Amino acid sequence: MPLSLARSAGAQLYQLDDAGHVTNLTFTMSCNCSISPEVSADGEDDSPMIRQQSGCMVCGAPLDYDRVFSRQQCCFCGRHFEASECCEQGHYVCDACHSEDALAVIETMCRHSRETDMLALFSQLRQHPSVPLHGPEYHALVPAVILTCYRNIGGKLGDSLLNAALSRGSQVIGGSCAYSGVCGAAIGVGIAFSLILEANPLKADQRQVVQNVVQQVLKELAQFKAARCCNRDGVVSLQKAAELSADFLPVPLRAEQWLPCDQHVRNNECLGAQCPLF
Ligand SMILES: [Zn+2]
Ligand SMILES: [Zn+2]
Repeated sequence: MPLSLARSAGAQLYQLDDAGHVTNLTFTMSCNCSISPEVSADGEDDSPMIRQQSGCMVCGAPLDYDRVFSRQQCCFCGRHFEASECCEQGHYVCDACHSEDALAVIETMCRHSRETDMLALFSQLRQHPSVPLHGPEYHALVPAVILTCYRNIGGKLGDSLLNAALSRGSQVIGGSCAYSGVCGAAIGVGIAFSLILEANPLKADQRQVVQNVVQQVLKELAQFKAARCCNRDGVVSLQKAAELSADFLPVPLRAEQWLPCDQHVRNNECLGAQCPLF
């Protein structure tokens, strides 16, 4: 390479003298450290956080519910929200981040399931590590279970309805049982019946049926003077959905498999002997 061309390359090329010393760059002492691929240059650890199964999803500590809403930053996505809850260590996780892994798992498992009993499928989904003991995941899980078992038992259902159920269910806010006065599991039953019956706000019959179904499910759930338990509320909702399906759906649903509670030791707010699953 001509010397003039090498010089025009500047620091991109080492220029050596006859003894092999670099002449065009000045080197300084360095510890030769480099940043590991798992850590970004700003010092933030980019490795995925392990999600805790109960309590705070970041650290597992109990959640605190404040009386007032304040600006909170989600520990997973960094976005800001007005929220009233965080853990004792100050961690806040938004509904979308709380649910995103679980929603993908629910969709995949439901697409491939041949289960016809809603309680059996509900239990299978709950066993997956991405599905926590409690959380807004159940607002999408309940209608997904109903639609999947309805399809598997012979009900007519379009392919896109499972995604519609997950989308509608995941829009129900976390804590809606207390914040809105309607448990997300009851809304989940309403979402499933609405999709099966093709309800919309202008269809008088279907609109009335869906609201009637939700209020009957909610009546069952409201009998418990208890903190939320997404296992109890899910099972009771699915049992009521099966009962109501005989009157309102073309093909009745099944919720027959008895599943005793498997989470009471991990659930700090468990009703104990007063719970129908205990
Ligand atoms: Zn925490
Ligand atoms: Zn988030």
